[in-house]
Amino acid sequence: MSIATLLQDAKLQLEGVSDSPLLDAQLLLTHILKKDRSYLLAWPEVTPTAQQQQQFQSFLQQRLNGIPIAYILGTKEFWSMDFSVTPDVLIPRPETELLVEKVIEACVDIGSPTILELGTGSGAIAIALAKELPQASITATDLSTAALAVAQRNAKHHHMQHIHFMQSNWFTDIPKGRFDIIVSNPPYIEEQDPHLQKEIKHEPAQALVSGKDGLDDIRIIVENANLYLKKHGKLLIEHGYEQGSRTREIMQQAKFEACITVKDYASNDRITIGSSPP
Ligand code: GLN
Repeated sequence: MSIATLLQDAKLQLEGVSDSPLLDAQLLLTHILKKDRSYLLAWPEVTPTAQQQQQFQSFLQQRLNGIPIAYILGTKEFWSMDFSVTPDVLIPRPETELLVEKVIEACVDIGSPTILELGTGSGAIAIALAKELPQASITATDLSTAALAVAQRNAKHHHMQHIHFMQSNWFTDIPKGRFDIIVSNPPYIEEQDPHLQKEIKHEPAQALVSGKDGLDDIRIIVENANLYLKKHGKLLIEHGYEQGSRTREIMQQAKFEACITVKDYASNDRITIGSSPP
């Protein structure tokens, strides 16, 4: 079968499971052919080898079973870098790049910022920060040793081995010390959210779900963060699009000042930032 036929055929099959059936098929095929999408469009009549076609059918079957593209290919782009991903880690989301931007902004006046990232998963946030802030001293934690192994592999791949990775259940194993910045994209989905049975069911629940209102982990992080922040240190947390005002309240109750919520590029409340009291 030609590239055009393979794609058309796959697109029809994927229509029931994906919002972007053609794009999905193209991404799977570009990975196998080691070409970009423009190649597929320029050479629709080319016939991939039997082995490539077999590989494509195997990838397609996984996608038909609902496995996300990033897990099938084992990689996801974030901050213009490729990250290895496995089902042990959340797939980095484009909106989380905003969290990286906000940390960079918060660091402009600090020469050598000390940054703590809680729940690093694939390491995407910490590694993007290490790339942009070479003077920063970054500690990145996760509860999952499997996730930490993925993060360390990514750090090595991007030559960011100076990031200090450690296992910790939020703050439990963090040595008492004071950071300029604490940043986290914690689990924030409500237990009963129907998406957990659909698009995101292949991702680790531990990285997604956070109690009845989705705020259990945000509460733990916010209520303890002041003990680990310098005066005027900043806490930056990603959250769900309906959790902006609740997250600000939780921060204000924990004595954070100047709490603001920032919208992502889809105009959804996405990040809340607070300053620790002087
Ligand atoms: N933004 C992710 C989603 O909606 C959730 C990420 C998280 O819980 N930290 O699928």
